[in-house]
Amino acid sequence: MPMKIAVVGTGYVGLTTCVGLADFGNHVVGVDIDREKVARLSAGDPVIYEAGLEYYLRENLAAGRLSFTTSMKEALRDAEVVFLAVGTPEKENGEADLSQIEAVLEELAPLIDHYLVVVTKSTVPVGTNRWIHEELSRMVDPRLFDVVSNPEFLREGKAIQDFFHPNRVVIGYENERVKEVMHEIYRPLYLIETPFVWCSWETAELIKYAANAFLATKISFINQVANLAEEVGADVHVIAKAMGMDGRISPKFLHPGPGFGGSCFPKDTKALVKIGERYGVDLSLVREVIRANEAQRMRMVEKAKRLLGGSLEGRRIAVLGLAFKAETDDVRETPAYPIIRAMLEEGAVVCAHDPLAMENFRRLVPSIEYAENEYEAARGADLVLICTEWNEYRNLDLERVAELMRERKILDTRNVLDPERARKTGFVYEGVGRILFR
Ligand code: NAD
Repeated sequence: MPMKIAVVGTGYVGLTTCVGLADFGNHVVGVDIDREKVARLSAGDPVIYEAGLEYYLRENLAAGRLSFTTSMKEALRDAEVVFLAVGTPEKENGEADLSQIEAVLEELAPLIDHYLVVVTKSTVPVGTNRWIHEELSRMVDPRLFDVVSNPEFLREGKAIQDFFHPNRVVIGYENERVKEVMHEIYRPLYLIETPFVWCSWETAELIKYAANAFLATKISFINQVANLAEEVGADVHVIAKAMGMDGRISPKFLHPGPGFGGSCFPKDTKALVKIGERYGVDLSLVREVIRANEAQRMRMVEKAKRLLGGSLEGRRIAVLGLAFKAETDDVRETPAYPIIRAMLEEGAVVCAHDPLAMENFRRLVPSIEYAENEYEAARGADLVLICTEWNEYRNLDLERVAELMRERKILDTRNVLDPERARKTGFVYEGVGRILFR
């Protein structure tokens, strides 16, 4: 039986949830406070870039199963389930900011006049779903609702694929009654034998933070091994490959680079440390992962400096890649930001390019030059610094780049180029965890 579902917040997670659940045959209404976003989504413009998103958005709009509104009242009318997918950004002290969730609860509570399952998809600190239950109970008869924690694990750039083929679905609950509803919503995933983890609210909340912190730990770990590999003349790619051949380790997330970024790992690791502090548990490993990540970004600036003879003053640097990873236009917490900021402070002139994220990055840093393509960025540059692993940078025409540059130097923080080829073309080439230029 198709269900009537409301999704509050239509960002990366909310919009993916909207189109995915609508494609399962449900009637879905997405609600957002951003009027312009709602207008564009209603017209079939996905606003953000995600592979396949536009197709699913348009198909489901056309099928009449999906609509968008700024009115919570309209979205909640007849809804059996409401997903909360608003942002939970980082507060200045590192804790998760729950003000968007609070605002939604205030608006939601007076509208609950029939049984409703409130599902938290946003990443929220341990104790939040219990608190949501208490807050709503102050305003609404508790028999009229249940609360479910259903953390999201999608990867930006692969959001649609991950929605339809998740590794697992985690559902934290208290009342058995919700099981039937959640089963019904995710029935298509049962058919493809997706594992479901049924657990308490607190367990579900901690699964999300523990998973993200573990992945961030793998990245910081291999980055430190890469730094050591540089010093001892070893090759981190061979090391990572051999490590990954051990099934207990797995080769995933062992790619060295300029440090992790994005809207999740940086804020979720910090929030986890704060949760630990609140309960008197020292999550020293996670604290160190955060510190190592910040140091890794600055190590890239040091590398650039060394490649340019010790100073960036007046040097022209072409930064290729601004998104925090390939296949997304998201620049939240992207390593390119602190790296460019630090280089500007040292007197560098930066000309940047990204296939998708330039518009978003321009809002963060309006004062640098932006180039139409990677070759225009390289024109007259003393150094090309690759910051995102876009495929088009893997296939750079190095001869053409060499002709355009003032000095032939490449700092490849994602190891996307073949060092031998770069050197044969006359470049001084440096990657991460590979042979070091001195
Ligand atoms: P986002 O910033 O892209 O989207 C949030 C949306 O909520 C925005 O469109 C905003 O306008 C809307 N909003 C804010 N307040 C609102 C209100 N009161 N009513 C209606 N709409 C409101 O955020 P996101 O990246 O989709 O992340 C959402 C949550 O999911 C966060 O908790 C995040 O940690 C978590 N998460 C994100 C990812 C990811 O890859 N982006 C992955 C897993 C989990």
